[in-house]
Amino acid sequence: MAKVLKVTKIASKMLIALGFVLIIFLTPLNVFAVEPFVLSDGFSFEDISEDFELSIDEKSNFDDNIYIRRKDLRLLKFKCFGFDGEIYNGELVVAYEATNPITKEVTNVSKEVLEILKELFEKEYPIDKISCFYFRNIGETDRLSQHAYGLAIDINYNKNPCLIIDENGEILRTIPKDLEKYADRTLEEKGMIKIGDDCYNAFTKRFWEWGGSWDNPKDFMHFQKFPSDYPKPEPKYKKTTVDPKDPIAIDPKYPIIIEPIEED
Ligand SMILES: [Zn+2]
Repeated sequence: MAKVLKVTKIASKMLIALGFVLIIFLTPLNVFAVEPFVLSDGFSFEDISEDFELSIDEKSNFDDNIYIRRKDLRLLKFKCFGFDGEIYNGELVVAYEATNPITKEVTNVSKEVLEILKELFEKEYPIDKISCFYFRNIGETDRLSQHAYGLAIDINYNKNPCLIIDENGEILRTIPKDLEKYADRTLEEKGMIKIGDDCYNAFTKRFWEWGGSWDNPKDFMHFQKFPSDYPKPEPKYKKTTVDPKDPIAIDPKYPIIIEPIEED
C-alpha cells in the first residue's frame, strides 16, 4: 500500500511539472511583450528594444553605470511641424519616470513629454532640432547633466544657443559656435524660444525649468524636469550588478533629432 501511494505521489508531481512545461510552451510569446503606450494618433512611446541602434561613449561603460539603464528609458514617437510648415515624424529617447528628489512624487515623464510635444504640434510650433537623453556631465564639470537621466530637452539649438558669459557680462562663446547674434532675444525668427510663447508655456506650466532664465550659462535651447538647485538623483544601481545586455543608449539618430551637444 505504501509503495502504491509513493508511486501515485511521484506521478502527480510529474503531472504538475508537465503542466508547467505545457503552460510555458503554449503561452503565446506576445503575452510577454509590452504594448506601446499611445497618447493619441501619432504620439506614443515604447520600450527600447535590444536592436535599437546604440552608440556608447566612454562614460556609458556597461559595467559601471549606476544611474540609468535601457529599461529606464523609452522611445517616444511623435509628429511635429518643421520650419517649412510640413509635418514630420520624430523620435526621442526620454526617461520613463522620475521621482522628485524633494517631494518624492513620481511622474511619468515619457507621457508628460508626449503631452508637451502634442501641444506643440497642435499649436504648429516649428521644431527642426530636438534631443533629450545623452549620458554626460554638465560642460566642464563632474556633475551629471539632467540629459544623462533623460530629464532635459534641447530644442532648436540653431536659434537658441547656450551662451557662456564672463564676469563682466560679456559672451565668451556660444554653443553651437558663432551664434552670438541670438543673444539678442528681441529678434523675430521662427523657432526662437521666448518667455510666454507656446514652447516656453508648454514646458513651464508643467514645472520644467528653462535654461534661458539662468544667468550663466544662458541656455536658451534647454528645458529640464527639475530645478538646477535640486539635489541630484541618487544612483539607482549598485556597481557590479549591471547586466551587460542592458546598456544605456545615447546619440539618437533620427530624422529631426540633433546630434548631442555639450553643456547643460
Ligand atoms: Zn540641454
